[in-house]
Formats: sequence, structure tokens, C-alpha cells
Amino acid sequence: MPASTPSLIASLHRRVLSLVSPNALLPMTCILGCTIVISVWLFYFDRAEQEKTVARQAAITSSENIVLIVATNLEEVLGRATLYARIAGGDGERLQTTAAHLNPQLVGDSAYVRAAVFDGAGALLYSSARQEREPELQALLARALAQPGEAPALSIGHPAAGGKYPWRLPVLVRLDGDGAAIRGYYGAMVDLGYFLGSYRNVDLGPEGRIEIVHRDGQPLAIMQGGILLPAGGHATAPGSTPGAVPSAIVAREILADIPIRVTVVQDPAVVLGRLDAQHQTYFVRAGAYSLLVLAVTIGIAAGLWRQQRLHSAVAISEQEKQRLIAQLEQEKSRALALASQDHLTGLANRRMFQEMASAELKRARRSRNLYALLFFDLDRFKLINDTLGHGVGDQLLKAVAARLRGAVREYDLVARLGGDEFVVLLSEVPSEEFVAQLAGKLVQRLSEVYADLDGHAVETSPSVGIALYPRDGQQLDALLLHADQAMYSVKARGRGFFSFYDASLNASSALHSELAARFRAAIHDNEFRLHFQPKLELETLRIVGLEALVRWEHPEHGLIFPGDFIPLAEEQDFIVPLGRWIIDAVCRQLAQWRADGVPLVPVAINVSPRQLRDERLLDVFSGALARHGIAPELVEIEITESSLIEDAETAQRNLDALAAAGIRMALDDFGTGFSGLSRLKQFPIHAVKIDRSFIKDIRNDTNDAVIVASTISLAHNLGLTVVAEGVETKDQLVHLKAAGCDQVQGFYLQRPGAASQIAPLLHKQSLTYQPT
Ligand code: C2E
Ligand code: CA
Ligand code: CA
Repeated sequence: MPASTPSLIASLHRRVLSLVSPNALLPMTCILGCTIVISVWLFYFDRAEQEKTVARQAAITSSENIVLIVATNLEEVLGRATLYARIAGGDGERLQTTAAHLNPQLVGDSAYVRAAVFDGAGALLYSSARQEREPELQALLARALAQPGEAPALSIGHPAAGGKYPWRLPVLVRLDGDGAAIRGYYGAMVDLGYFLGSYRNVDLGPEGRIEIVHRDGQPLAIMQGGILLPAGGHATAPGSTPGAVPSAIVAREILADIPIRVTVVQDPAVVLGRLDAQHQTYFVRAGAYSLLVLAVTIGIAAGLWRQQRLHSAVAISEQEKQRLIAQLEQEKSRALALASQDHLTGLANRRMFQEMASAELKRARRSRNLYALLFFDLDRFKLINDTLGHGVGDQLLKAVAARLRGAVREYDLVARLGGDEFVVLLSEVPSEEFVAQLAGKLVQRLSEVYADLDGHAVETSPSVGIALYPRDGQQLDALLLHADQAMYSVKARGRGFFSFYDASLNASSALHSELAARFRAAIHDNEFRLHFQPKLELETLRIVGLEALVRWEHPEHGLIFPGDFIPLAEEQDFIVPLGRWIIDAVCRQLAQWRADGVPLVPVAINVSPRQLRDERLLDVFSGALARHGIAPELVEIEITESSLIEDAETAQRNLDALAAAGIRMALDDFGTGFSGLSRLKQFPIHAVKIDRSFIKDIRNDTNDAVIVASTISLAHNLGLTVVAEGVETKDQLVHLKAAGCDQVQGFYLQRPGAASQIAPLLHKQSLTYQPT
């Protein structure tokens, strides 16, 4: 048994722990403990049994050795009788009869106690004891004389039973003469006691013995436990187990030519008894191990049992807790639903709306997206309520809610603030355009007849005020206020319509179709104007360039800004003819200034993506330059990143051709697109204009400041000039200067103005005010 059984069990236990489910652990531990105990005992019994087998085998072998030695020895001792007989035989004529030759004791042979010589007729010729008769020998002799033919040359008698010397064995040797004649006999008494005495110290155990047995089964001499037993009397059947020892270890040897057999018997109890002490130690150890294993197993099992009980108690209380939590949660959400829902329409109520809209606007702040808040008020609702009853009024509110919900996207918030006021928050809208379209659709949808409200057909229309995030407010309160104001302005103007809080947007939506229809006439009637905005070198505040910005002087609507018609012009495929007009107008203006003696700086022309795909763009430029005699260095173009992405091949060809013609180009609104600066290397660009949305927050927004700073240093690495546009404050200017920006443009320095306003500045070359 290994000495570290407990640690083995512990490590097994740990292993098992990691393999099985906790519930199976307890029975597994018990089974493991029992298995170990059973193994210990099996091992013990097996080992003891093996050792016994080995010991028994060893005893058998030793018995066989002993019997062989005794037999050989005895054969040799008895064989000496023949030798002495030959001496007694003398010279062949006469038998020797003198003591000097015939008594073996005289030559030191202690096994032979007496010798005698008889003549052929059996008369005693010589007795070493000087006796007249040798009764034991003569009895043997008589038997030999009685059957002269059959008697062997050497015959053996039996010791005299009950005699004084029970181990003295008569031995008779026939002395043969010539032919069949018998000359006489030599007889001797061999002391088997003396013979066996030399084996006194062979340890065969108290029951173990050495037996010398006559062939007729009569024991001749027995030595047991170092003591000679009287041999006469009890006979043992040949082959039977002598003595009373059951399963005794027996070895036999039959002597050649002498009718004697030697048997060695060992007592197995003695042989195995020697192992007893050792087996007792094994037994005690196995018992101790078993007790130890049982103790450890019981200990572990008790621990596991306690743990299991603890676990199940914890699990039960956990379940109970979960149930309570679920119940509470259910109650809470029911209460919340009740508190946050408008019970009539199922829409969110004011509280809920404020919560959700605020969260939505927080998201908006991170995403730079456009959001729109639409404020609805039903026209004539009070009248309907008063005349047709509250029931119909409620039905109408429900129907309006359903139509609103059905007309917006799923993630847009729809709520009823109270009475007949509804709000919709449109998230992440693509453009003001989209808001206007949707608002128009909603007005139309809500204005349709409500066919069956408690049997009444009801007609109403909404007045909708729209506030846009971020332009009309950053907080929900401001947006709600402005949308509300816009809604009132609709009511004031005649209901059933929508209005943006920012009045300029109203025009755009309403005017679109009208403008689109007038484009061609507008060019023909020369309604487009160019304004110019200076670009200044930041270091010196010298004017280093101008940007041409188009305006439409509409006979009815006044001055319209490009944001309101450029996208439309692109959509209506009018941008190319408009662009041609602008290019020509810029060259004409340059020629005019030159004629007026105004110092000239390069003028940048905005080229939209659609124009860049015009195959004739280069012709248009070179034609205009030639017509007015203007050097190509005096015009630049500004393009946006999107032009480089859509149909990049034509764009690239056009840009390469323009660059080859000596026209420089800048990348406009940089930072709003997707390309990194490194991608721009393949285009012949000389400057980037950082989009004004980045400049706006450069002082407050670390992200924007980082973008601006890294854009500047990257652009410089690529050898590009950096222009910051939309500079509106001195702070921004200071910051840009610190960041290493090259040129600036913005309202803080100079708003875009007509050619007549710009000419004096060009005369001065730089701006009068210096930032301090
Ligand atoms: P853009 O190319 O980024 O032009 C600069 C715009 O920023 C101009 O608006 C200008 O008035 C405005 N701006 C200049 N400084 C400031 C400032 O400090 N603060 C703010 N908030 N704005 C400032 P505008 O003239 O309304 O033009 C709007 C856009 O219309 C232009 O943006 C350009 O993309 C397009 N556009 C203008 N003129 C033309 C043109 O001749 N051809 C084409 N294809 N597009 C044009
Ligand atoms: Ca521009
Ligand atoms: Ca720009």
C-alpha cells in the first residue's frame, strides 16, 4: 500500500469534483471509499495467499532435499555391511573370525554396534559381543535359511519390539562361495538411532519427522521434533500419510537394493506459522488503512452532504427571490405602463415622451445627425368635442393617433401631450427636404375624412410646427418651444399646413417646384449673381484668394442661397449649364477687375460632382479663360470628396486635364467624407478645406480639435495647403493659428459680398482689423 493514501484520495476527490455534477458527488465519494477499502483487503488476502504458496513450495523442496540426503546417507551406511561382509569372507578358504577385522566399531564406525559371522548352516562362528547367541540376527538368519533361493544378498530385519534398543536394525549379508554354495553369513546390528541422531538439528517443526520404514510398512526408526520415537508397534500403510498431520508436506525416497524407504514429513502449520507474524502485521496495516479511508470518506461525504444541503437551501431561496423580483418587475412595468401611457390612444404620454426624447437627443449629440420635432394641433377639435360630444372627440383622437403611428417609421417617437396635441420625433432624418415631405404627407393623411366616428363623418386638419435639431435647439425644451411657436404661426396664417421654425426652410420646401420650373428662364433673364468671400493667409491676414458663391436674385422671392437650389439643380440636371454660366461669370469678373485696376487674386469656383463627370468641363474652362483673356493660375476649383468616389475615372481624367491646363484644385468640406488624406495623393490637389462643422466646436470639443490638428499636420506632410472655413470667432482664429493652419475664411473675417463690396478689400490687399 502506498503511504500517501489520504493524499491520493484527496487528489482523486478533487479530480472527480471537476468532472461530475455536484449532486452525483456524494454517492460517488461513498462508492470510491468502499472500493478503496475492498481493494485494500483483496490486496491483503492475495498477498498472504501468495506468500503461503511460496512457503509451502519452499518446504516441499527442502523436504525433498532432506529425504534425498537421508536416503543417500542411509544407503551408504547400510552399504558398508557388504564391505564388512567381504572382509569377513577372508581369503575364500576360511571365514574370518577374529575381532580385529570384523568389528566395525573398532575401526570407528559408530553406526555398527555389533557384528557376527555364521557358517553356511547358520552356526555362530563369531560374535563381537562375545555372546553365545545373537537372537535378532539369528531370527533373520532363520528366515534366510528357510528360503535359500529367494533371499536377497542383503536382508534386513526388524528391531526387537519393546527391547532395550528399539532402533537397532539387524542386517544380514550372505557370503557366497563357488557356484551355488553358501559359505556363510555376516550379520551386524546397525544403530538407526545413532544414524538419525545426526539429523537432530534439522528443523521440521514439532510435528515434522524423518521416518525410516521397512518395505513391509513397519517403521524402523522415527525422529520427530529432534526426539527418537520407539519405532516398533504401529505400522503405516505404504503411500498413506503418516502421522496425524492433515495436508502434511511429505517427501519419500526408496533405497535401491535395500528394502527401506525414507519419508520426511513437515508440518504445514509450522511452515506457515512462520508467516503468521508477518501476516498479522499486514492485517493490522490493512485494517488501519481501511479505517483511515473510511474516516476520510465519511469526512468528505459529510462535507458534501452539508454543502448539498446548503446549495439546495440557497437555490430555494434564490428561486423565491427570483419569483419576488419577477413579480415586482411585473408590477413595476404595469405601473410604469399606466404612468407612461396615454390611456386613450395607447401612445406615450408627456412624461414618457420627455424621457425617451431626451435620451434620443443625447444620442443625436454624438451622431451629428439631423432630428426633427413635429408639433401637431388639431384644428376645430374643441368645436367637434362641444358639438358632437366627448365620445366622438375621443374616437377622433384615437383615429388620429393610429394614422400618425402608421405614417412614421417604427423607431420614430409618437406621443400625445394632452388634449388634441400630438408630437412626433423623427430620428436621424437625411435632410430638411425629407422632413418637409413627410410633414406634407402627414398633414394630408390627417386631413382625410374620418368616416365613421360613432356614426359621424368628421373632418379636421392639423397645424404642424417643426423644429430641427440641432439648428433650432439642442435641448428638448427649446425644440418643443420652437415647434410650438411654429405651430402657432401656422394657425395664424390659416391652419391645415406645416411650418418650420426656421422660416427660410419654409420657402425652400414650398418653392422647390416653382424654382425648378424657372431655372432656364433664370439664366436667360440673368437672375444669378456671384458673391465673393476672401481667403486670408493666417500669418499676415493678406487676401490670398476669393471663393465665388452663387446666389439667385429671384424677382418674387428675393435673394435665394445656393443651399436652396444647388441640390435641386443637380437633381434636375441643370447644374451643368448653371456651372458654365458661373465659370464664365468668374472670368468675366476677373477681366472686369483687371480693367478697373483692381489687384487680382485667384478665384475659387465650386464644382459639383455632376459637373466633374461632364466630358466637356475642360473645354468650358479653357473657353471661358480664353474668351476673357484670363491666365489659368487665376482660377481654382473646389471639389468635394464625393466627386472622387462616384465615377472616379472620368473625374480623375477631368482633374488631370484641368491640372495640366494649370488650374489648381482644393478639396472642399474635408472631414465629412470617407477618404483618408493618404488616398488623395493620386489626385492633383493642392489644398484641403477643413469643413466648418469641425471649426465650429474647435474650442469645446476635444475630438474636433484633435481632428483639426491631425488633419493639418498630415496635410502638411503631403505638401498640401490647409484652409479652415467657417471661422466665426476670434477664439477659433487663435486656435487655428496655434494649430498651424495656413489660410482662413469665414464670417469673422469677411462675409461673402458682391464684387463691388470686395474690390476695395482687394485694393487694400489685407483686412483692416487685426485680431489682438
Ligand atoms: P461651400 O463651398 O462650403 O461654401 C462655403 C459656404 O460657407 C458658403 O455658403 C458661405 O457663405 C458659408 N460661410 C462662409 N463663412 C462662413 C462662416 O463663418 N460661418 C458659416 N456658418 N458659414 C460661412 P453658401 O454661399 O450658402 O454656399 C453653400 C454651399 O453651396 C457651398 O458650400 C457650396 O457647396 C454650394 N455652392 C455655392 N456656390 C456654388 C457654386 O457656384 N457652384 C456650386 N456647384 N456650388 C456652390
Ligand atoms: Ca466651397
Ligand atoms: Ca466648404
